Amino acid sequence: MPKPTPGPRHDRRPGGPPGRNKRPPQRPEKPAQDRTTPDIGQDGLPQVSLVRRGVERWQAGHPWIYRADLNGDPALQGGEVVRVVDARGWFLGKAFYSKHSKISLRWLSYEDVPVDTDFFRQRLAQADAMRRRALPGENTYRVIHGEADLIPGLVVDRYGDYLSVQFLIAGTEQRKQLLTDLLVELFKPRAIVNRSDVGVRALEGLPQEKGVLYGTQPGPVPYDEGLVRVRADLLEGQKTGSFLDQRENHVMASQYAFGEALDCFSYVGGFALQLATRAEKVTAVEISEQAAAQLRENAAANKLPNVDVVVANAFDFLRDAVDEGRRFDTIVLDPPSFAKNKDAIEGALRGYKEINLRAMQLLRPGGYLISASCTYHIDEQGFEDMLASAAADAKRRVQIIEKRGAGKDHPVLLSLRETRYLKCFVLRVL
Ligand code: SAH
Repeated sequence: MPKPTPGPRHDRRPGGPPGRNKRPPQRPEKPAQDRTTPDIGQDGLPQVSLVRRGVERWQAGHPWIYRADLNGDPALQGGEVVRVVDARGWFLGKAFYSKHSKISLRWLSYEDVPVDTDFFRQRLAQADAMRRRALPGENTYRVIHGEADLIPGLVVDRYGDYLSVQFLIAGTEQRKQLLTDLLVELFKPRAIVNRSDVGVRALEGLPQEKGVLYGTQPGPVPYDEGLVRVRADLLEGQKTGSFLDQRENHVMASQYAFGEALDCFSYVGGFALQLATRAEKVTAVEISEQAAAQLRENAAANKLPNVDVVVANAFDFLRDAVDEGRRFDTIVLDPPSFAKNKDAIEGALRGYKEINLRAMQLLRPGGYLISASCTYHIDEQGFEDMLASAAADAKRRVQIIEKRGAGKDHPVLLSLRETRYLKCFVLRVL
């Protein structure tokens, strides 16, 4: 069998492995620009063809195809699984079609297989199997991380016996019941919460929604992080209830903590509780009353009386602390995303620099700064450059001890490295 060689000039179509990419029985006609009925492929699915640039993106392994790279308007409603072909009718894969978003296609499969219940069952089971290998013994992790797990537009977070789910595109929204049934079958959860109350759904023409999909409404749900037990409200809390991407970093933080510690942007205490297991005293700064209340409960439940929760704007708190000449030995900064789009990057970097500069000024020599950013539009190098500039302005010499990212349950596609959104540096101020 000739070895398929990827690449634009040696694509695997004519000489590829047998059984795949067979010549279609009839070349589909080039779609007209204004049509009211979709093309139908050989398996009865609507068929969408790509222009050359789209085919090149497919070859590069990019998980999306933009509207401009489609050959005409496919005259579909959105949410369909479509068969995708090149201009000559060669099969490229199957994808979810979106009508409203600039991203028209999100690949589901590069094989010509039915996208049915069994297909999704296998995808879910395979993703879960990876987590069990990567995180043995854990029962709290992200089960499905959208595109990176080959189910675009779906996020599933597991908190022990509970699941919290986001349907982000029409394709997954329309299969909500099917996916819920499969999750019940695979995980036998006590409840499944729907946290599709996110702004990105507007790009798909979908309203924000939240509620209980299965079981009864849970109160705050407990889960373990290292030696600490955290409770988070899956229905009323932020995101899917908590920030599972930082779990491994939370536990790591306890290793460095000592003396007087400060955790800014604490939420329900992911970092603050870990710091409190080692530090003498922890000041946790959080702007949301609701999150601060849950943090206090979490500290009490873990018998950690050394956590002082302050409801305040962390920017103000840090500025005042510098003015008052306060000092700390361990500081964590884990703010929300400061830039929702590319135009906001400059302002976001100013924000990051301000808080990091102040934190460096507040640290005693030998103190640790654990500094994170979840801004998708700032990459690791950009973040590191900002830290260097903050250190220079703070007139401190700073070591990099660790450069970390999201946990292993948040895989990154090599072909879409922007999905490596979370940066978490461990620095030591000399
Ligand atoms: N560190 C947390 C996650 C933080 S998410 C963890 O690891 O679990 C960001 C948090 O910052 C949210 O709880 C949000 O309410 C809070 N926040 C947003 N703006 C803030 C501000 N200006 N000052 C303090 N907290 C803020």
